[in-house]
Formats: sequence, C-alpha cells, structure tokens
Amino acid sequence: MAPWPEYKALLQQAIHQPYSLLPELPARRKAASSISERQVLMLLHGIALANTWQYAAAEPLLTRATLYGRRQKQYFALDYGLDALASLYLVQGNVDKAMQTWMACFELGLKTRDRNAIMLAHLGVGKTYFGLHDFHNAKNHHLATVDIVCSLPNHQSSCEAYVCLAVDLIKLCEFGKAAATLEVARQYLPWARHPKRSTCEIELYFGMTLAGSELYPAAQLHFERAIELATEADFSWGLALAELESGKVWHQAGDDERALTHLIRSEALASALQSSLFLRQCHELQYQIHKDRGNYLAALTHMQTYTQLSLQAQRESGKMAPSSRVLKKLRQYEAQLELATSQEENVELTSRLRKHQDLIAQLTQKAETDALTGVFNRRALDQRIVREFELADLQQQDFSLLMIDLDHFKAVNDQFSHQMGDKVLQAAAQLIVRACRQGEFVARYGGEEFCVLLPGAPLAAASNVAERIRLQLAQFAWAQLGDGPARMSCSIGAACRQAGEDSASLLKRADLHLYQAKAAGRDRVFAA
Ligand code: GH3
Ligand code: MG
Ligand code: MG
Repeated sequence: MAPWPEYKALLQQAIHQPYSLLPELPARRKAASSISERQVLMLLHGIALANTWQYAAAEPLLTRATLYGRRQKQYFALDYGLDALASLYLVQGNVDKAMQTWMACFELGLKTRDRNAIMLAHLGVGKTYFGLHDFHNAKNHHLATVDIVCSLPNHQSSCEAYVCLAVDLIKLCEFGKAAATLEVARQYLPWARHPKRSTCEIELYFGMTLAGSELYPAAQLHFERAIELATEADFSWGLALAELESGKVWHQAGDDERALTHLIRSEALASALQSSLFLRQCHELQYQIHKDRGNYLAALTHMQTYTQLSLQAQRESGKMAPSSRVLKKLRQYEAQLELATSQEENVELTSRLRKHQDLIAQLTQKAETDALTGVFNRRALDQRIVREFELADLQQQDFSLLMIDLDHFKAVNDQFSHQMGDKVLQAAAQLIVRACRQGEFVARYGGEEFCVLLPGAPLAAASNVAERIRLQLAQFAWAQLGDGPARMSCSIGAACRQAGEDSASLLKRADLHLYQAKAAGRDRVFAA
C-alpha cells in the first residue's frame, strides 16, 4: 500500500473537497498495486460520491469496501465509510439498515478504541431517532456525540454535532439552550464539512428558537438571511425549510398574504425534493389559511392533498420503524459502551460531560447577561416581556414597567474618563438591583438606560419602587468610586399596562414619561 500520509490526505479530500478528488479516482484505482490498496481507494471513492449526494453510485462501492474492510481488518477510513453508507440508507428511508450500519460503526469503535467511530455512530443513531420523532433519544445520543467531539483532535464533525443537538432541543421546546448550543456550533463553522450549508442552517435554527419564544420579527430576520444563504449555496433543502418556517411565522404574526407567498415557494421546492414531511406542513397551513378566509374550495384541495400524504406516510411508517432485533442489538451496544467507558475513563468522561453541561449553562447565561453590568441584556428583556405578558393575562394581574436613564451621564465620560463612566454604570446597576425585590427583573436597555419589569404591580406600587431607586442613586456616596463624580442622579418614567396593550406600546409610554421627567428638571419620577 502507498505511504500512509498520502491516504490520510486523500481521505480529507474525499470529505472536504470531494468534487476535486472524483475525476482522478478511477485512474488511481486502476493503477493500484494491491487488493488492499484498491479496496481503500474504492472506499474513498464511495465516500466522495456520497459527499456529493451521488447515492446510487456510492452505494455499491461503499457496501463492497466496508464489507472487505470488516472481514480483512482493514480499518483505515472504515468508520467514515460505514457512516456514509448508513447516512445513505437513512436518506432512502431504510431505517433498519441505517441503524445496523451505524451499529457496525459502534462495534468498530469499541474493537479498535477509535473514538471517532463511536462519535459518528452516536451522531447517526441520534439522527435516526430524530427521523422517528423520538427527540429524547435523539438528544441523548447527540449529547454523547458532542461530549466525544470535544475530545477529538479534529473539529470536522463538531459543528454538525452541535447543530443536531440544537435541533433536538428546539423540538423539545428548550429554546434558550438551543440558542446557546447554536452559538457553540457557530464557533466550529470554519471546520464544518459544508460551511455554507451549516451557516444557513444555523441562521434558520436561530430563527426557530426565536419563533419558539414568539419573537416573530427577530425570527423573520433570521429566516430572510437563511433564505439568502440557501439561495447562494444552491441548498434547496434549507431553502424549502426556511420558506416553510417563514410562512409559519408570518401566519402567526397575522400576515396571511405573505405567509401564502412563502408557503407556495416552499411547496414547489418540497415537491421537487419529494419531501413528504415539508409538503404535509405546507398543505396543512394553506388549508388553515384558506379556511379562515372563507376560500373553501382552495381549502378543500389542500385538505385532500394533506390527507393523501398523511395516509401514505402512515402506510410507510411501518417500514420506517427499526425492527426489534436491531433495537435489541443497539441496547446491547449502548450497555457495552457504557461498560467500556466506565472501566477506562469513567472519571474523565463524567467530568468532561459536566464541563460540557456547564458550558451550555454558561453560554445560556452569557447570552442573557449584559457583560458590563451583569444585569440582564436587551435580548433577555425582549424574551421575558413576552412571557410576563402572557402570565399577566392569565392571572389577570397588573404589570408595570420602569424606564431609568442616568442624568448627564455623558459629562462623566467627558470630564473623567470612559473607564469611570463604566464604573458608574456598574454601580448604578447594582443600586437598582438592590432597590428591587426578588422576582423583579432588571435589564440594561442600552447605553445608560435600564428597564425594570414589575409583575403584579399597579402604577402606585411602581412609583414607590421608582422613588426608592431614585433615592438610592441620589444618596449613594459616589466619591468612593475614586476620581469621579461627587453625585449622580437619574430620571425615571413609570407606566402600567392597559388592557390588551402590547409590549412595544408599554415601553413607548414609559419612555415618554421618562422624557417628561427629564423635561421637568431631572432627578425625578414621572408616572402620570
Ligand atoms: P440626559 O440627562 O439627557 O440623559 O443626558 P446624558 O448625557 O445622560 O445622555 P446622552 O444620551 O447625551 O449620553 C449618553 C452617553 O452614554 C453617551 C454615550 O457615550 C455613553 N455611553 C453609552 N454606553 C456607554 C458605556 O457602556 N460606557 C460608557 N462609559 N459610556 C457609555
Ligand atoms: Mg439616554
Ligand atoms: Mg442620560
């Protein structure tokens, strides 16, 4: 066989630049001097074909080469070959064969102590569970994947692993964690197998986490970006999904005209892709919209197509489910795997897993915290307001909001320094938090402005809290910060939510009151 490093380089090429490798492979295979070399080249050929979505051509090569590899203990690139073959089966809807092939990958990993093989198997089994709508098991396997991925020397699967985990979390409605996981995925983009596609997917799923938190305009921005990226990268699967999700969100936001435009585009793409899952969702929502508008004929047509597709999916789902034999084998491998890891590196693995969970917790927190002052940031505020409004409606409770702005803050920067300005902001944030009770939510709204949410508080109570905050700031011994201002003050606008009022309008009224407090001479509360 040819020198080892050359084959490693060829494998990297088959994964990352399959198009450039494909033309030279037939000649290389012909020139191979031994059977084992020819088999390795066949395997690489299959991987490169699978990576360019030429599944029909890839399948026979991968089947033969992986069989040879397993029989002859020719392990080079065998994990990638098995993974490509299993992915191909999954795309064809042959879940049983896909599972079996990923289990062969597990087996290989256990036998040769190859962590990459075990990682690929977890990733694939997780995807299979996802396809079967078993999101809990998908998440468990993807958690195992990201745990191993952290410890591998190369990052080529990291992005994909974190994206898969994020999608499981979205399906389980854990939107905050999903967003944090996507942040991690984004860091691994430079090493991703398909960077353009992955960038598009990350945008798309970010949009879905925002839509899940009912932040529709923000979600829409991400979907628009995803549509752009998918169009650029000629990524029709991503485009179909982005159009579909965008349609759903326009519908949620009450703009059915735009919703229909996106759904019709998604439907065309989905039918070219023969994606029954996307098509069903397109028809179901179009049925809803036409029915609500009284277009019963159009509604009926969509309902009929939806029903046909659903029945067909139901008939095929029998074929989809993995057989009990395969599931039993999978459980055996899972147990074996647990045993193997617990014997060898129990302590190390557990600590790594904990570190990983800490990372997600940290990122979730980081995503919601203002770095300078440590209070919540604007993004956390936007999400919290939505939830608080729902609660306030449900419990028929008052809800008030304070908008706080430091007086003449620019002068602190100008007269002392920007660093002193930062110190003042930090101290002000702490004073505001101290003046609030637990359960009251303090966020930095931007610059030197803060916002406090007061669930359950009528206007009079909100005015009291505001007055307490104003006094805290006015009476604080600012000189203790060092060479800075001797005194500071703030102006506060308070507003209580009126029946049916939305968050934008409440924020606007509080802001208006803030400016009235400023106009009346600063260092005061205006509550109207
Ligand atoms: P007013 O009483 O009318 O509110 O006057 P002001 O000076 O407080 O308001 P203005 O909006 O003119 O200035 C706000 C300043 O806050 C301008 C900006 O440079 C400063 N600023 C915004 N963010 C930061 C920050 O993170 N650190 C520091 N040091 N300064 C900031
Ligand atoms: Mg300001
Ligand atoms: Mg100010």
